[in-house]
Order: sequence, then C-alpha cells, then structure tokens
Amino acid sequence: MTTSTPTAGAASVDADTQQSLLASTRAQLFIDGSWRNAADGSTFNVLDPSTGETLCAVADATPADGHAALAAAVAAQESFADTSPRARADMLTRAFELLHERIDALALLMTLEMGKPLAEAKGEITYAAEFLRHFAAEAVRIDGSYQVAPAGGARFLVTRQPIGPCLLITPWNFPMAMGTRKIGPAIAAGCTSVIKPAHQTPLSMAALVGILQEAGVPAGAVNLVTTTHANDVMEPLIRSGLARKLSFTGSTRIGRLLLEQCADKVLRTSMELGGNAPFIVFADADLDEAVAGAVAAKMRNMGEACTAANRIYVHADVIAEFGRRLATKMAGMTVGRGVQDGVQVGPLIDDTALAKVTELVADAVAGGARVLTGGTAIEGAGYFYPPTVLIDVAPSARMGSEEIFGPVAPLTAFSDEQQVVAMANDTEYGLVAYVYTNDLRRALRVAEKLETGMVGLNQGVVSNPAAPFGGVKASGLGREGGRTGIDEFLETKYIGIAV
Ligand code: NAP
Repeated sequence: MTTSTPTAGAASVDADTQQSLLASTRAQLFIDGSWRNAADGSTFNVLDPSTGETLCAVADATPADGHAALAAAVAAQESFADTSPRARADMLTRAFELLHERIDALALLMTLEMGKPLAEAKGEITYAAEFLRHFAAEAVRIDGSYQVAPAGGARFLVTRQPIGPCLLITPWNFPMAMGTRKIGPAIAAGCTSVIKPAHQTPLSMAALVGILQEAGVPAGAVNLVTTTHANDVMEPLIRSGLARKLSFTGSTRIGRLLLEQCADKVLRTSMELGGNAPFIVFADADLDEAVAGAVAAKMRNMGEACTAANRIYVHADVIAEFGRRLATKMAGMTVGRGVQDGVQVGPLIDDTALAKVTELVADAVAGGARVLTGGTAIEGAGYFYPPTVLIDVAPSARMGSEEIFGPVAPLTAFSDEQQVVAMANDTEYGLVAYVYTNDLRRALRVAEKLETGMVGLNQGVVSNPAAPFGGVKASGLGREGGRTGIDEFLETKYIGIAV
C-alpha cells in the first residue's frame, strides 16, 4: 500500500486557488430566487475530511427558513407547471453545459468538502450533468393516451401532470449527482422543489443551485435549505401537507423515519436507501476481470457508496488466487488528500465513519478473518483508512449485515450456486448484486434469483442515468433515472369522456 499523509506530496491545485474558490462559493440559502442568510443569522462550518479543518461557514437554516422555502415552492408551482416542456428542457440543457464548462472548479469544491480524489469528483460532475441531459430529453416526451372504452360509448383520455411541490433530501457521498438525479426529473416534470443536502457537503449543492438559476430556472422553482437541524426543519414541512412528494436518498434508518412522517398526509415517496451488495465470483469467471470489477465495485468513492460491494463471495476453488490478486491491486492504490496528484483513495467522511470501519474490521478479525492487506487506520490528521482485503470472513461477521462504507473487501468462500444465492439474499437489503461468470445460463439463472433492484453481470459499476436505479426490500421504493425516473414526479389523470 502506498500512503501519503494529508500534508505530504504535491497538491495539484495550490492553496491560493483553493482559498479563492472557497471565497467565491455560495454559502447561503436560496429561497424564492434570492440568496439569503438564515433567519437568525446562524451558520455552521463545513470541514475538509482530509485535514479536519474548517473550509468555510454556511447558513444554518431554521424551521422558519424551511417554511419560507416551501412557501416559495408552493407559490411557484402553478406557473412552473405551465412552462412549456421545451422551455424546461432548455433550462436543463443549459445547466448541463454549465456543469461541463466549470467542471474543474466544481470538482475541486467537491473534493475539498467530501474528500474524494479530483479525478473521481470530475467523474461525478460528468455523471451529475448526464442526469440533466437525460431529463431534458424526457421533459419533451411526457405523453398520455386516448382509448375507446371496452364497452364503447366512452373514451378514456389519460394525461400526466406534475405531482406538485417536492421535498428532496440528499446524502453526502455523491454531493451533486444525488441532487441532479432528483432535481432533473422534478424540473422536467414541472415540479417545484425544496432541496436539503447533507450538512457535510452543502457547497456542491449550492453551486448546482446557482447554476440552475443562471440556466433560467425561475424564482421559487428550486429552493435550497442547508441546515444542521434536519429533523426540526424538514419534519414540519413533510407534515404540513403543502408538499406532495418526498424524494430521499440516505440511510434505511432515516428512510423509515421519514416514511412514517409522510404517512399522515399520504405523500408520494421515492426512497433510495442503504445497500449490502453481494459480489459473486464463480470458478469459471475471468479472474482478472473479476478482480478489476471488485476494485471498481469496492473502491469507487472510497467504498462510501450504496452500491459498494459489501460481501464478496468467491468459489472455494479460486478464492486464494482471487484474494492474492485483489490484495496486490488494493495494496498498490495511493491514499492521500484528494487534491494531491495521483491519489486514488481519499479520506472517509468523518471520525464516526472511521471508527465504524475500524470496529467492523476488528469484529471480522475476532471472528476468524485474516488480513491480506491494510486493516489498520492511518494515523495523523484526516480520516484515512487504507484499502483492506480480508479473507475467511465468517458469514456471521457484522460486516455481513451492516454497510461497511469504507475501503474494506471481505472475502468468503462458497461451494455451490444455490448456497451462494441463499447467502446473497440473506439480508434485509436489496439494492444491487454483482455476478462474475462466463456461463450464460448460470448468469441469467442467478441474476433472476437475486433479490435486488439491479445486477451487474461481469461488470462492477451499474450506475447510469439512462438506466432505472433503485432497490427492493429495505433498500428502497421507486426508481431514479432511466425511462421511468420522471414518473416519480408525475401523477396520472384519467378523464372519462362521453361521446
Ligand atoms: P443519512 O444519515 O440517512 O442522511 C441522509 C440525508 O438525510 C442527509 O441530508 C441528512 O441530513 C438527512 N437527515 C438525517 N436525519 C434526518 C431527519 N430526521 N429528517 C430529515 N432529514 C434527515 O445518510 P448518510 O450517512 O448521509 O448517507 C449514507 C447512506 O445513504 C448510506 O446508507 C447509503 O447506502 C445511502 N445512499 C443510498 C443511495 C441510493 O441510491 N440507494 C445513494 C447514496 C447513498 P444531515 O446531513 O443533516 O444529517
């Protein structure tokens, strides 16, 4: 493993550039088309996870700010719904272009507040922009139907309308893409919204909202609330009944709580929740491809992804060789500050995340797992954990049922197809699974049996704005992206016509 401390190595972006970017960064609420401070003037600090130091202070919204944001969204709903689909598509297209024009500055901002290496941050901006392009195309394809009633004598006119003002809540791990994945279809459908990013990463969302404003999104159509009082600000909005939908991406624990809050006013919900992805390698798989896929599925975003391979099941005949090759690859990855040249693995988001990963590894080792590489937190400033491979991880280890959310690959052997499918499905989660095999019949058999919303067959990354992303069981409700992503923001209305 190659590690560099947060202060060592060349920074590819100098400190002055970082400071001037932060100085010009939006750090306020955006309500009804204007940037403003919190009602009581309070702020909170955004930290750099690679140093633990403060980057800047951001407005800390109060419940009154939340109400003002939702009131603006409600007031703007009717006129925004009346804009033409083409006009909304043009806003999204312009925002897509601006994200690309400013990709370097946006990526730096994301790296500073979230920690991921600059190359990954650029990848996320591209991914985030792609949702805007995708939904620009969907905006002009919202259709309906006209049908003769089966018994004749009447006609069915079916149309689709914006669902109304939406509340959007996003996590810190993909600070911009989780925003465009919701705001894109909301704008395309003609819904206004209030968006609340995670308190760790408000800056990327503020930059995105500024770009949407520049792209011509009218006042009130998108409102931004940054806060450290998530529950106090959002629960009254959810319970008010003024919003018609909640779209949430985050942990299953908070998702459950929000579903309860939504029940009273029967809000439509989209829930993109936690994962516990199995990654299955059969003996006939191309091992080099499987190792490359495992690195992608495990190490994207330092393992801080809902889609991260959380349990790696490898056939007993090949597990030793697979483990050796995976450990070699993982040990060769460079750890350091995301702004440093050549860094592939940044810090975890905070000390809680670091403590959890440390605890889960200790638990697995106590249960008989062996460490092939890594396995101990890196001392010093920031929240760094090295790429780690564990072998002989007992299925009963805590990391078999809890999201690791860190760069730790736990390997467990299996002996037959039925057994591994049962192990893979033995979880409350069902977001994504990965399968490596060269046997087409087995691939399809297993893909159909896996209880997940998505399957990667011989590939370690499934996220694509043009594909329906989402999970089953406790991993969520609904799908984002793809042809159906816009449906989450539309109501179907049937008009019966006598002829
Ligand atoms: P989290 O703790 O559930 O937080 C997610 C968001 O919810 C944040 O904006 C958070 O605000 C907010 N929140 C927390 N408590 C709330 C409350 N009582 N009322 C309203 N909002 C509240 O999750 P996280 O740690 O940020 O993100 C990691 C989780 O997200 C993982 O479980 C991961 O699997 C999941 N995730 C899922 C997907 C998917 O598409 N399925 C994608 C990415 C991540 P604060 O920041 O103020 O706490």
